[in-house]
Amino acid sequence: MTSLPLIPVDPDAPGARRAAMPPQHLADLDLAGRKALVAGLGEPAFRARQVSTHYFGRLVRDPAQMTDLPAAARERLADQLLPRLLTPVRELACDDGATRKALWRLHDGSLVESVLMGYPDRVTVCISSQAGCGMACPFCATGQAGLTRNLSTAEIVDQAVYLAGVAASGAVSGSPPRLSHVVFMGMGEPLANYNRVLAAIRRLVAPAPEGLGLSQRHITVSTVGLVPAIHRLASEDLSVTLALSLHAPDDELRDELVPVNQRWKVCEVLDAAWAYAARTGRRVSIEYAMIKDVNDQPWRADLLGRLLAGKLAHVNLIPLNPTPGSRWDASPKPVEREFVRRLRDAGVSTTVRDTRGREIDGACGQLAAAEDSGTDPVGGVGVTGRGERDQET
Ligand code: SAH
Repeated sequence: MTSLPLIPVDPDAPGARRAAMPPQHLADLDLAGRKALVAGLGEPAFRARQVSTHYFGRLVRDPAQMTDLPAAARERLADQLLPRLLTPVRELACDDGATRKALWRLHDGSLVESVLMGYPDRVTVCISSQAGCGMACPFCATGQAGLTRNLSTAEIVDQAVYLAGVAASGAVSGSPPRLSHVVFMGMGEPLANYNRVLAAIRRLVAPAPEGLGLSQRHITVSTVGLVPAIHRLASEDLSVTLALSLHAPDDELRDELVPVNQRWKVCEVLDAAWAYAARTGRRVSIEYAMIKDVNDQPWRADLLGRLLAGKLAHVNLIPLNPTPGSRWDASPKPVEREFVRRLRDAGVSTTVRDTRGREIDGACGQLAAAEDSGTDPVGGVGVTGRGERDQET
C-alpha cells in the first residue's frame, strides 16, 4: 500500500514553493476584466470584445488576421491579450485521424497533453488541469510522475480553444466541425486546482465573445473524490457532469487504488456525489477501471450494485489501459461481461468505455507527457489526444 500525506499537496498553499505561472491571457479574465486591461493599455475598451471575438468566436489568434483592428495596435494587443501559452511539441493521431493527442510545452518547460476525439455526432476534447498529478493512483501513468504545478485558467481553456480550431479546420473527418464536449479527464486532479478550473468552466460555457459557448451539460469534471471540493462545486449553480473515479467499492482496496481514499472514505465520497446529483439534477458518472484479479470479482460487482442501486448514477467501466511498468492487466472480457451483468441486475445503468487512443498512449491513465514516448508523429507538429467514449456492451 502507498503511504501518502493524508491531505493532497496544494502547490498554492502558503509556504509552498511558488510555481512559475504563465503570463496573463485574455482567457484568464471575464469580459469586464479584459476591458479594464485594454483600457489600461490606453486602447478603447471595445478592443477587448474585438480580440475576444477573434479568439473565442473565430478561433483566430494570429494578429495579422485581425484586420478590424488598426494595424499599429494589433501586435501590441495580441502580445498583451494573447501571449503564447501552449507550444505544440507533437501531434499523434490514430483511428483514421478521429483521435488526436497533442503534447504541449508550457512557458516553464512543463509538458501537458490533451486529446481530441471525433465521433459522428460530436467532438470531444479531453483536457489537462495540472502538469502532472499529486494523487498517486498506482495504475495511472500521470499519477506516477507526481505534480509539477497547477495550470492557469487560460492554459486550461487554450487547450480546448486550440483543439476547437483543429476540429473547425476539418481535420477530423466524419465528425461535426464544432467542438461540443469537454472532459476534464486529462492530466491532473481538477478539483485540486479548483479556482482556476472553475474559471475555465465559466469561460468554456460563456457565449462568445466572452467564452466558447459550450453547453454546461457537455462538460464533465472527473475527480478522485475531494469531498469538500465536490460540495463546493455543487453550490456553484452549474450543471456540469461530475465523474467520480471510484475503482473499488470497499475502503480496503480503494485506499490502495485511489490513495486519497485514506482521507475521504467510500461512503463519504458517495454521499458527496449524491449531494451533487440532488443539487444539480445531473446523473453522476462512476468511473471504474477493470483490473484483473484486483477489483473485478463478482462480489465487488454486487457490493457496487448495492451502493449505487436507486441512485442518480451511471457506471463507466474502463478496461485498464497499459501503463509503463504496471504490474496490472485489464480484466478478461468474460469477467468484464459478468461484472456488467451483475450491476445491471442490481438496476444500475452501466456501460463499458471503448479504448480509443490506446495506440498513442492517449487513453485513460496513459497521459504522462514524456517527449520521447508515443508512436509515429503524424501531420507535423501540433496536437495529440485521447479518445474514449462510453459504449453499450
Ligand atoms: N484526476 C481525475 C481526472 C483524471 S481522469 C480523476 O482521477 O478522476 C482519468 C480517468 O482515467 C480516471 O477515472 C482515472 O482513474 C482513469 N485511469 C487512470 N489510469 C487508468 C488506466 N491505466 N486505465 C484505465 N483508466 C485509468
